[in-house]
Amino acid sequence: QQVSTGALEHDRIDELLREAHARYADVDEGLLAHYIPILGQADPDLFGIAMSHVGGSVHSVGDCSHQFSIQSISKMFVYALVLQEHGRELVRERIGVNNTGMSFNSVMAFELNNGHPMNPMVNAGAIATTSMIPGKTAAKKWENVREGLSAFAGRSLSLDDEVYHSESLANERNKALGHLLKSNGRLDDDPTDAVDVYTKQCSLNVTAHDLAIMGATLADGGVNPVTGQRVVDADVCRDTLATVASNGLYERSGEWLFEIGIPAKSGVSGGIVAVAPGKGAIGAFSPPLDMAGNSVRAQLAIGQLSRAMGLNLFASA
Ligand code: GLU
Repeated sequence: QQVSTGALEHDRIDELLREAHARYADVDEGLLAHYIPILGQADPDLFGIAMSHVGGSVHSVGDCSHQFSIQSISKMFVYALVLQEHGRELVRERIGVNNTGMSFNSVMAFELNNGHPMNPMVNAGAIATTSMIPGKTAAKKWENVREGLSAFAGRSLSLDDEVYHSESLANERNKALGHLLKSNGRLDDDPTDAVDVYTKQCSLNVTAHDLAIMGATLADGGVNPVTGQRVVDADVCRDTLATVASNGLYERSGEWLFEIGIPAKSGVSGGIVAVAPGKGAIGAFSPPLDMAGNSVRAQLAIGQLSRAMGLNLFASA
């Protein structure tokens, strides 16, 4: 039976989270990401789910305090900060909003679109987006990224040095994308600096609990529901969520929207954040991934909760 989150009793939310966790904890499918060597050492049994309501209550079950690198989920929050800074028209022209239909680190997608990055949720677009963060130096941009994402989380986020170093030694492809962006006039910054700030942003540590609050800030029109701080404007949240809806789950974005019906962004360390505008957000974490790079258990749990809570944006009843 569906219930609206607005009317949901806190006890009922806790119960639904516990049910989803119990139902999928033993699912034994998916593989750890290996192309960033240290991610291949994650514990595949970790599994946490958290939900933050726009009213400020946060519910959690399982390994919700376990820290992991945010990876691609950072892209949606950095995009929101850049939209806030530059406005939607400039960002739409420079970065785009359309799905590539190809893998997140595709060079072909970029080439086929005449050297335009296409959208901010794939690596080419994300590197270009990060370079639009204000700051005269790479160090200042990094500081602004870290502070901005911390404001979404409502606590000071820090870099996971081990992940940063592991990825820095294995990101030749992203460096190539940085140089291609530069050669196509799509990057003002030095490509090495732009990719370095991007690699750092992907190496910020978060928990499933943090993801729920970060997502709920977007669900809440840009106000962090726990700290009360306004992080971005409401129209920035709308534009960010629209872009995430069509591009957030790699090549599975269309299927996800068809089946689950709420914008969600995943990352290769096993996190997913799903946002129900005006209601709240779910953060889930479990390292084993499907072939597209999305956490298997996190997708199942969020799908189950979205159905149980009636979160699908396209359902009229
Ligand atoms: N830092 C990773 C990369 O750029 C993020 C990939 C992801 O989470 O999709 O390759």
